[in-house]
Amino acid sequence: PVKDVAEWKYTTCNYCSTGCAIEIGLNDKGRIVTSRGHAGADVNRGKLCIKGLLEHELFESPGRGRMPLMRDKAHLPFQPASWDVALDKTAAKIKEIQAKYGRDSFAVVSTGQLLTEEFYTLGKLVRGQIGTNNYDGNTTLCMASAVSGYKRSFGSDGPPGCYGDFEHTHCLMAFGSNLPEQHPIIYWRLKEALEKRKFPLIVIDPRVTMLAQFADIHLPITPGTDTVLINAMLHVIFKEGLEDKDYIARHTNGIDEIRTLVLEQYDPKTAQHVCGIDEDRIRQVARLYAKAPAAMSIWTMGINQSTHGSDGVVNINNLNLVTGNIGKPGGTSLSITGQCNAMGTREWSSCSGLPGYRALEKEKDRKAVAEFWNIDESFFPAARGLAQTDIFPAIESGEIKGLWLIATNPMTSMPNQPRIRKAMENLEFLVVQDVYEDVETNQYSHVFLPAAVWAEKEGCHTNTERRVNLTRNVLPPFADSKADFWIFNEMAQRFQDRNAIHFPPTPEGAFEEMKELSKGAGRTLDISGMSYDRIEAARGIQWPYSEEQALADEAQFGPAGQFDMKQRMDFLGNPRLYTDGVFQTPDGRAKLIPVRFVNNNECPDDEYPFWLNSGRVVEHFHTRTRTGKIGNCNKFSPTPYMELNPDAAQELGIEHQSYVRLVSRRGDAVVMVQLTHRVGRDMVFIPFHFHDCVNRLTLGLLDPYSRQPAFKQNAVRIEKI
Ligand code: SF4
Repeated sequence: PVKDVAEWKYTTCNYCSTGCAIEIGLNDKGRIVTSRGHAGADVNRGKLCIKGLLEHELFESPGRGRMPLMRDKAHLPFQPASWDVALDKTAAKIKEIQAKYGRDSFAVVSTGQLLTEEFYTLGKLVRGQIGTNNYDGNTTLCMASAVSGYKRSFGSDGPPGCYGDFEHTHCLMAFGSNLPEQHPIIYWRLKEALEKRKFPLIVIDPRVTMLAQFADIHLPITPGTDTVLINAMLHVIFKEGLEDKDYIARHTNGIDEIRTLVLEQYDPKTAQHVCGIDEDRIRQVARLYAKAPAAMSIWTMGINQSTHGSDGVVNINNLNLVTGNIGKPGGTSLSITGQCNAMGTREWSSCSGLPGYRALEKEKDRKAVAEFWNIDESFFPAARGLAQTDIFPAIESGEIKGLWLIATNPMTSMPNQPRIRKAMENLEFLVVQDVYEDVETNQYSHVFLPAAVWAEKEGCHTNTERRVNLTRNVLPPFADSKADFWIFNEMAQRFQDRNAIHFPPTPEGAFEEMKELSKGAGRTLDISGMSYDRIEAARGIQWPYSEEQALADEAQFGPAGQFDMKQRMDFLGNPRLYTDGVFQTPDGRAKLIPVRFVNNNECPDDEYPFWLNSGRVVEHFHTRTRTGKIGNCNKFSPTPYMELNPDAAQELGIEHQSYVRLVSRRGDAVVMVQLTHRVGRDMVFIPFHFHDCVNRLTLGLLDPYSRQPAFKQNAVRIEKI
């Protein structure tokens, strides 16, 4: 028992994608007094990082939206409004803009931070009623390359592996993934596995990150050249006959093309001059990886946020397919997702397709969803519209006139801020729906809709390893803010004249609809065996989890919602994808896709001689809309800073903790210098969380497949002030 706690409520962390289970302690007056990690949850086993430990402080944090706000022009003072007036105005403006300029002239950009039932409901509203095809999530800034790469290689999105793979692998290669700061509890799981059973940890990162400090081998690669390194590894693997010939023959297509490409063009002797890794090192890691009985690759933004992001993911998949490392314990590709529910939006929001990993491009998928929602199939477009990163240029050009932003803050998160600022000023109508009314993007809005935060709502998240977990409603929404689920349902009532669709009134009702849509032979994303009670009792369930599986579990382990999931997993193991070697492609075989390197990054030159790299610090999440308001998170990391190599600093005559101006072709920013050998002489690093800082400098060239921006490959110069 904990002093003063009368009741514990079950929730899931709403920051990163690790998916830690949190219990919130309330006293007998219903006030929150503490929080703790859930000891019985397999993901975090009682642990939390600093953000999770302090997450309950969000409920009373400053800057919360209290009521809807409206104004005729951005920059005029806001006037308070009732929900009916604000929603009526929003619906009327959307219809007016669409009537004048066409349905796609109004865009919707959502997030990876809502609950899954909210994503599903928003998708139903946007795809089924509003009918714009310019609908996307801010996940285009973080995980779009992983989605695209999985689809190209395996025929479907969905990370095949799980955290349990750390306990079985014999070699782990981490590409551009700094777990101790980005996903501290996943790092703790990895560390535990390493302490029990030693295996090589290879870290590929241009910077000496915290994870690189713990690595057996650190490869400080030239930014944006991962595909060259992997091709050179594949060269060694083929040359020395280390590939898994049997797996390749039974489960893949395309081996001849890829073998020819890497043998002819990616000899480590040549590749070393492009990727900056010595040829002997390349040979060493290729052998280590290919000879391991099971080897796995993890990656985060170092791969995804690149003009070659999708190709990088495809090439990681190539490496794992060639070495037979997909679908077996400890052998896998595992993208470490960014936001807490980026997986939920990929699965159910219909942003780039239709719910349940269905594609707009497939007639049978359009028919299935149209029938389920009881609308005409022709209401759906037959191909995806603009991604978030293409929506802003379309606003700039006047093609898009109105925008609804939901739990995302492009004024801080998008690259090339000066350009985004101009685009925002071009909008005829902007709705911002957010927990905080002081979020930077709100300065351009005409209507502000105040949303409830995290555990003021109820619903599910899916984490990096496909685990669906639950957040119970701990407190009612603050002041007159409302759950996003309620806001979408209310908006849907105002579009019934377009398509009369039934919207379940509760998140649990929406979850039951999603379960129905997830059923079907051969579907990987099957959640039909889950229920809120079962999820809470198991402290999270990984998909696929079918009705049949749930019944079999009950027969073996006891009544629904009561069996111990840990006991079940010890007995049955973690669910993984593609364990039978059958993929989601038409012929069931994975595709080996040859990847050629083209250097189209903005590289340093005489005028701008430094690489600009960016990333996360442990105390903050994304644009600090929440962590910037939490005492200790902000106290430990209050200001932006720039890591600079001491030798470079000496050459420029720059001192530790002095302020400098950083200049790129887009703009400039003033930052404090922190001297460190974490970065090489030709690179600077800045945390990306702060407004008016690193994204004033970034260019953000786009990956051709995923439309994800290259945040990490930009050139800057340093000016003393
Ligand atoms: Fe939350 Fe991620 Fe920290 Fe876990 S590791 S407590 S999910 S921020």
